[in-house]
Amino acid sequence: MSKVKAAVCHEFGAPLKIEEIELRAPETGEVEVTIDAVAICHSDISFWEGGFGGSLPAVYGHEGAGRVTAVGNAVQGFEVGDNVAVTLIRACGHCNSCGGGKPTICETPYDGTKGPLTTTEGAPVFQGLATGAFAEKVVVDQSQIVKIPTDMAKDVASLLSCGVITGVGAAVNAAGIRPGQDVVVIGAGGVGLNAIQGARIAGARRIVAVDMNADKLEAAKEFGATDGVLASEGKPWSAVKKLLGRGADVVLVTVGVAAVYDMAPRYIGNGGKVIMVGMPHFGETAKYSPLIMADVGQGIVGSKMGDVVIKRDIPWMVDLYQQGRLKLDELISGRWSLEQINEAIADTKSGAARRNVIIFDHG
Ligand SMILES: [Zn+2]
Ligand SMILES: [Zn+2]
Repeated sequence: MSKVKAAVCHEFGAPLKIEEIELRAPETGEVEVTIDAVAICHSDISFWEGGFGGSLPAVYGHEGAGRVTAVGNAVQGFEVGDNVAVTLIRACGHCNSCGGGKPTICETPYDGTKGPLTTTEGAPVFQGLATGAFAEKVVVDQSQIVKIPTDMAKDVASLLSCGVITGVGAAVNAAGIRPGQDVVVIGAGGVGLNAIQGARIAGARRIVAVDMNADKLEAAKEFGATDGVLASEGKPWSAVKKLLGRGADVVLVTVGVAAVYDMAPRYIGNGGKVIMVGMPHFGETAKYSPLIMADVGQGIVGSKMGDVVIKRDIPWMVDLYQQGRLKLDELISGRWSLEQINEAIADTKSGAARRNVIIFDHG
């Protein structure tokens, strides 16, 4: 056991408290990672608000990067000192999904109540998103980590653990965008900008960003959007169809708002598909017309974490970053200490930020 400083949620929606908790040593197949940087994702905020359920007290945070500082038995391919990105993608490697190359939808999900965290009095602390990276150290399964180059800054590397793989992967893996296809990305936030970069990398013809905020539409162009349409103006799907000459081949919905899902099929043309990336709160539903969608061969597909295989996909994304073809530095809008986490969350929630990153000083 070791004592670690963490941002703990005791009540949904109430400020996180910075306090010491106990982290047990890594067991079979697990590694301990000292966290150098962790980005704040909208999923952390949804959990903190109680929108996704889960027990309390809890430690959230799942978009991390750091150094391996201990390894359990039967860990292969990692040793103390390795620089790694830490993701929430915990895959058993043996179920139907893992065997089929889709570890992001592993069928034996992790039970966070049996995690490595306890209070100093010994009561269980929920390891949010199978990671609990709003803390100085984590103990995670070896399936969740990927080596990164020693010369890559950890704040930048942390982004690869969720927002970047989710957006780029949705375009490249889930949508399987081919050169020349027309793509609409709804929401030009942290994940949306990465979906736009993914569409650019995949060779899309037109990439139309749709957002409520004109400044975000301008920023989207830096990441590869060819056009921008304000979501607040009348029927944005009509403006998109005018731009493209027809409906889009792919619409990537990157915001977790059910009302946006109601509208998403209106953007696609015959044979087009909607990729569901953003996650509305539990219990919310959306409407669509099965008649129209069946009649013109359209589809709606869910994509968890960009359908990535982290040990395949994160290394090529690192390489594209190092070549200047994947933008990461530009995604960071603020750097904060763990003590400032409630301010950083408020800033993320305001919608103005791209990614806010918590930087740890291990002094
Ligand atoms: Zn995330
Ligand atoms: Zn599995």
